[in-house]
Amino acid sequence: MSILIAAIAFILLGASARWAWWRARVPGLKVLCYHKIGVPPPGSRLKELWVSPARFRAQVKYLLDHGYTTILFSDLKKAHDGKKQLPEKAVLITFDDGYENNYLHAWPILKELGAKGNIFVVHGTIGKANLWHNPASEPWVKMATLAQLREMQDSGVMEYGSHTLNHPHLSALKLEDAAWEMAESKRQLESAFGREMCAFAYPYGDGAYSPEIRAKALEAGYLFDFSFRQGKTPWPWAREAGPIDRLFIRGGDNNWDLALQLTRGESRL
Ligand SMILES: [Zn+2]
Repeated sequence: MSILIAAIAFILLGASARWAWWRARVPGLKVLCYHKIGVPPPGSRLKELWVSPARFRAQVKYLLDHGYTTILFSDLKKAHDGKKQLPEKAVLITFDDGYENNYLHAWPILKELGAKGNIFVVHGTIGKANLWHNPASEPWVKMATLAQLREMQDSGVMEYGSHTLNHPHLSALKLEDAAWEMAESKRQLESAFGREMCAFAYPYGDGAYSPEIRAKALEAGYLFDFSFRQGKTPWPWAREAGPIDRLFIRGGDNNWDLALQLTRGESRL
């Protein structure tokens, strides 16, 4: 008996070290952040940024089965402008960069299950590859083409925001060049898709907490700016308080991680 109790205590202790289930629930906006849906290519050092299609499908299904409503950037804008209330369990599924695997694997799953997603597109690499990575450490893979992105938008399942022209470290640029990356990508994406780009995500999260760079992002006309920091941001959002945080889904995350991220703002220590 005492061995059994010791075993249970050991398992609970192990689970507590791995998962943050004992944390208090945190209110706020739930924004999931994905990158690539698929299997990492040989040589990838960023394997945690790849989520398998089966896992992604299970996560979207989990959301829908647990009463979450997946929303688009335009829904968030309507809510921010007071034109529509957010559903009680609203969640934004976002993807960074605009990979072809979003078109091949994520979009069909969202469409099939009746969910919505949003992609932060790097304008300069549409139809090309993730040129900002050194292929020696992270292999180049295809980015979605303009036709694929338009097809996803026309389905009503995906909307877009900007992730700059070239995916630079914004704080490493001259301020005027950083401003150009943000403002010109907005213009180019709006003319490519015929829609307003109300949302922006800082590549690598770089510059999100620099007052000068953030001022340029807002000056470019974005309503929402998204950081690369783990967590949930209070909603209604106080724009002057800072960018919107996100919940990062890693390749190894299961539905228990997802549940903790949604309710606690993080799943691990
Ligand atoms: Zn990125």
